[in-house]
Amino acid sequence: MNESDIDNSLNDCQLMTIYSWLPVSLILSDFLISYIAYVFIYCPSSLMAIGECILKLLFFNISFIMMLWSFLQTVFTDPGEIPSEFWLNTNDVQRVQRARSEQAGNILLENIVYNRHLALVTTSDKGFIRFCDKCVLIKPDRAHHCSTCGYCVPKMDHHCPWTNNCISFTNYKFFILFLTYLNVFFIFFLSTSFAFLYHISKLITQELKNEQDFLHVVQVVGLANLIFLIIYITNSSITVVTIIFMFYHYNLTLNNMTTMEALRPPAFVSEDIQGYDLGKCENFEQVFGDNVLYWFVPLFTSYGDGVKFSTSPRNLLDQQQYWYS
Ligand SMILES: [Zn+2]
Ligand SMILES: [Zn+2]
Repeated sequence: MNESDIDNSLNDCQLMTIYSWLPVSLILSDFLISYIAYVFIYCPSSLMAIGECILKLLFFNISFIMMLWSFLQTVFTDPGEIPSEFWLNTNDVQRVQRARSEQAGNILLENIVYNRHLALVTTSDKGFIRFCDKCVLIKPDRAHHCSTCGYCVPKMDHHCPWTNNCISFTNYKFFILFLTYLNVFFIFFLSTSFAFLYHISKLITQELKNEQDFLHVVQVVGLANLIFLIIYITNSSITVVTIIFMFYHYNLTLNNMTTMEALRPPAFVSEDIQGYDLGKCENFEQVFGDNVLYWFVPLFTSYGDGVKFSTSPRNLLDQQQYWYS
């Protein structure tokens, strides 16, 4: 590889980094513009009592801080590493790669699992040990290889381009809280300023009826009010999507499922294991912990170590409606 090739690959790498952070920048810009629109355009322009204004700003600022905190925690929390006991040494890798067949390779992996006392309850679709040949490791239960991150992630839910991070065991609670506070923030923004939006829309309609040109409309309505109108429409569209997304993830949490598992149910080693569903309350606590006060705060309180998970026996769940039955 000559110098220009190295320069080109460096440029590609920098471009990819810029590209991957673009959605995060867009989200942060939307938050910032929404904040300015509400605090500096809506509040001073609407004729509300000072007490009402203070109360609105108090709630608005609290939901803004919680939303931003949860978002930054989701973005900057490391999705986690697979513990060293799951990694294969050079000798084992060569033996597995040289194995005559997939079955022979699997026997070698089974021996490694047995000798290292690795607690695994899931297998591949073929009933083999789940092995990642890119990371050369035995995949712990619920771990998956993320093609965007380029490595295996514990209890991987999905790779989220909007946070430029994998949503996994370490940040799933932060992600759900982010969706929750985002919806609280947007719904509050949209519902309390609806009358102001109506006033701006009426003004624009009136001016357009008089067949005035666009520049004249901007002059009469005011650039700030037009910015408010645009951010209001943007936030309304975002809220429709994020509300659906939030309910989807609460449903997954209450059923102790990841998005990956909803798309492709895991295969269990033993027929006696029905799944991870431990009941709604227990499932919720697996992600949010048992301290009610911490449920609302984006601090890590999930149970476990990210590689071993409680399972439910089949005979107890025979009467229950199960997600892959
Ligand atoms: Zn991997
Ligand atoms: Zn990822």
